[in-house]
Amino acid sequence: MGIILVKAFIISGLALIISYFGIKFIMKHMKQFLIILGTLTFCTCVGFDIYFSKFYQKNETAIKVSEEIKDELTKVSEKFNIHDYVIKNLKQKDGVNMTVVSEIDTALYEIINVYRKILNDPKYMPLITSANDYIGHSKNSAHYHGKAIDIRVKDLDKATKKNIIDGIKVTLGNNYTVLHEDVGTANEHLHVQLKRS
Ligand SMILES: [Zn+2]
Repeated sequence: MGIILVKAFIISGLALIISYFGIKFIMKHMKQFLIILGTLTFCTCVGFDIYFSKFYQKNETAIKVSEEIKDELTKVSEKFNIHDYVIKNLKQKDGVNMTVVSEIDTALYEIINVYRKILNDPKYMPLITSANDYIGHSKNSAHYHGKAIDIRVKDLDKATKKNIIDGIKVTLGNNYTVLHEDVGTANEHLHVQLKRS
């Protein structure tokens, strides 16, 4: 017990002495201390800002493309058949069943046009790898209700792929879930699903 007390005294004493000289040192060099502290704070803030801005940066290309498509959609005539347009302007993998709900047809119209605008190719036909089909999806998958489609993104370069995915997310908005699945594999695709309401 006695030894522990002595140790505690020594440690407290040492801490006091170090604090005393530390504070004295800081007081003496207050100006330099503040400059260093200020510089460190500034650099940390700038560092965080640069680091996190990557995550919050708005994709201007995606926003522009999305606004154009929304605008074009308001101008299509009432006789315009979106389902026919979608079927004619998409490629489908063998076995794909394109029986989907009208909200998915609208989403596909927008998706086709995101691809075409970003790729600057007015005839580009994106490939649907799955829609209302009966193999490979989980039991309660929205695919079986015509409320989800998978679309290929694996053959695009990195920057184009990012613009297309961002463009689709911004254009489709909050009523759809867009998931980038099986990244880096032969089956890499976007899963686009109508949200359950
Ligand atoms: Zn899917």
